[in-house]
Amino acid sequence: MSKQSFSERAVNWIRGGNGSDQLGLTFLFVGLILSFVNIFVRSWIISAVTLVVFAYVVFRTLSHNLEARRRENAAFVKATHPVWDRVNAAAYRGAAQAQDRRTHKYLKCPDCKQRMRVPRGKGKIRVKCPKCGKRFDIKS
Ligand SMILES: [Zn+2]
Repeated sequence: MSKQSFSERAVNWIRGGNGSDQLGLTFLFVGLILSFVNIFVRSWIISAVTLVVFAYVVFRTLSHNLEARRRENAAFVKATHPVWDRVNAAAYRGAAQAQDRRTHKYLKCPDCKQRMRVPRGKGKIRVKCPKCGKRFDIKS
């Protein structure tokens, strides 16, 4: 005879559920954004959608049909794969650019507005515009 309290049994039951996965976390995030937006918009449609989204997240988290939930999540990850790839690529580009800005300066040609990249920390240097050939001095 196991003598488990109600709360212990409840915790064990929740632990045996699907828990959170990419699909659940994404919907949770969407729900939070919708609730935040609705602070300002105050639309009953958004309220209803938010409720459905949260209900779906709770349902999936507690669901014991692990096989079905796993299939859903796999399909979701597969369908949204290009988006995550793009998000990751953008984050990577941003980081690379931040790194680059420490060693290089970006400026525009005073004549033709061509964008140029010059090394930093070389003192006063004369640069030549690659487009119009205009030479000008800059402090790097
Ligand atoms: Zn130029």
